Amino acid sequence: MIEVEIKPKKGFLRLTPGAVTISQSIYFPPKIHKDLNLENPQVKNLAWLEHEKEHAQRQMEIGTRRWWRSYILNRNFRLEEELSAFNTQINYLKQHDTLVDVNKLIDQVTRKLSGIQYLWAGRRQKIIEYFKQQETIS
Ligand SMILES: [Zn+2]
Repeated sequence: MIEVEIKPKKGFLRLTPGAVTISQSIYFPPKIHKDLNLENPQVKNLAWLEHEKEHAQRQMEIGTRRWWRSYILNRNFRLEEELSAFNTQINYLKQHDTLVDVNKLIDQVTRKLSGIQYLWAGRRQKIIEYFKQQETIS
C-alpha cells in the first residue's frame, strides 16, 4: 500500500468538512490527527485513514490534478471514488471491530453521499444497491 504523510488541517483547509487528501499528504481535523499519532489510535480513525489512503492511491494512479478536477466536476466520478473508499473503510471496521453496526454505518454513508457534504454525489437507492452488490450488506 501507498506511503502517506498525515498532517493536521490548517488555514483554508479547516473550512472544509472531513479530511482532505492531496497526493501523499492527508490532512485530518486536528483531533483526529492527534489520535492517529497515539500508540493505539481508535479503530474508527484507522478505518478513516484507510479510506483516505485509497484516495491517495487513486491520485497516484491517475494524477493528483486530474483526480481532483474529475472529483469536483464529475458527480459520477466523485460517487465511484467515494463508494470504493467507504467500502474499504467499512471492511476495515468489520475486520477490526466485531461489534460494529454495518447497517448503521451504511445508512450514515448514504446520507452523507446523497447530501450537501459530497455535493449530492448520488441517489440513496443507487448507493444502497452498490453496497449490496459488494456484499458489504446483505
Ligand atoms: Zn473520501
